[in-house]
Amino acid sequence: MVSPLMSIYPRADLAFERGEGAYLYGGDGRKYLDFGSGIAVTALGHCHPRLVEALRGQAGALWHCSNMYRIPAGERLAQRLVDRTFADSVFFANSGTEAIECGLKMVRKHHHERGQPERYRVIACQGSFHGRSLAAIAASGKEKHLQGFAPPMDGFDQVAFANLNEMRAAVTPETAAILIEPVQGEGGINPAPPDYLRGLRQIADEFGILLFLDEVQCGMGRTGKLFAYEWAGIEPDILAAAKGLGGGFPIGACLAKEGPASAMTPGSHGSTFGGNPLAMTVAGAVLDIMEADGFLENVEGMGRLLFEKLEQLVGAHPKVLSSVRGSGLMIGLECLVKNSELRDKLAENGMLVVNSGEHVIRMLPPLIIGQSHVDEAVAIIGKSCKELAVEGT
Ligand code: PLP
Repeated sequence: MVSPLMSIYPRADLAFERGEGAYLYGGDGRKYLDFGSGIAVTALGHCHPRLVEALRGQAGALWHCSNMYRIPAGERLAQRLVDRTFADSVFFANSGTEAIECGLKMVRKHHHERGQPERYRVIACQGSFHGRSLAAIAASGKEKHLQGFAPPMDGFDQVAFANLNEMRAAVTPETAAILIEPVQGEGGINPAPPDYLRGLRQIADEFGILLFLDEVQCGMGRTGKLFAYEWAGIEPDILAAAKGLGGGFPIGACLAKEGPASAMTPGSHGSTFGGNPLAMTVAGAVLDIMEADGFLENVEGMGRLLFEKLEQLVGAHPKVLSSVRGSGLMIGLECLVKNSELRDKLAENGMLVVNSGEHVIRMLPPLIIGQSHVDEAVAIIGKSCKELAVEGT
C-alpha cells in the first residue's frame, strides 16, 4: 500500500519542532547544528527576527493578489535586483525549477523573435542539476532522473563541465544558449574556474547565443558575492535564482537582460502565485540584510576559515576524508567512506549536512554563522571521523 505522503524522498527518521539561527530543535528534544540549511534555503538561519517581522506584518495586510493587478512589493524587489545585478527585468516564480523553466522559454522566444526559430537547443553540463520538470531533467540529462519518463524533451545537449573545447565544439547553428551552474551543487560542489566562465561568455558572444546561469543554489550570497558570476567579472544574459532569496519562504526569480526579456510579452508566460505579496516582502527583507555592510565579507571570511579547518581535518583523518572543495559557504567534503555513513554519524553527533552523489558531504550553513559555529562544526566532524575510523577497523 502506498503511504499517504508520496514516497519520493529517502527521508531520515528525524523531525524538527523549531529552528533558531543555525540550530534546529528535534522532536526528540535534541539540538542540531544545521549546516544544510534545507539545501541552501535558510540562508539567514532559522526564524531570523527581521524575516519573521516582515512576514507577520504582511500576513496581517494581504497574502495573495493576482498578477492581474500591480503588486508594489514585487515592483520594488525587481527594481532592487535590477539595480544590483546585470539584469534589466525580473520574472518571479515559486521555485528554482520554475525560474529555470522561464529562462528556457525565454531562450527559445528570444531567437524566435529574431527570426531564428531553428535556434532552440541548449547546451548544459554533465553532473548538472536544474530541477525536476521534464525540461529540467532533459537539460541535465542525468540518466537516473530521466529513467521512466521517456521520451526526454528534445532540445538539450550535454558536455563535460569546465571543458571549454567541448563546449565550443558542441555549438551548432541550432544552439540557442549555454546553461550552467557556476558552482555545481547536486553534482558534488564543483566550482567553475573563473577563466571557464569568461570563456563561456566569449563563446556565447562569438556565436550569438545566450549565457544562462543557474544560481538557484550558489546565488544569494552563498559564495561571498550576491551572485557567483561576479567572481569571474562577466555578466550572463539570463540567471535563475531561488532558495536563499526567500530565506525559507518559497520563491524563484528569473533575471534577464533587456534582449531576452523583451521577447517575453503579455501572455508569453505566467504564474498564479509567483510574485505574491508574502514572498515579495520576505525577499525584500532578505535583500536588506544581505546588502548590509559586512554581510558578504562574513560569508567570505567564514568560508575561508571553514575551508582551512576542513583541510586540516582531511590531513588528520586520512581513512575517512580525502579532499575539500568549494566556494564561500558552499563546501564539499569528499569522503572515502559512503557519504551517508558520515552524514548519519554527524547527525548522531548533532550536526546536519547534505549528501551529494555517493562520496561528497555538502556543507551549506546559514550565511550568518560566526567562528563559534565553525569551531563547533569542526569538532563534531573530527569526533565523527574518529568514531567511523574505529568502527571501520
Ligand atoms: N537548480 C539548482 C542548481 C538546484 O540546486 C535546484 C534545487 O536543488 C534547482 C535548480 C531546482 O530548484 P527547486 O527544487 O526549488 O525547484
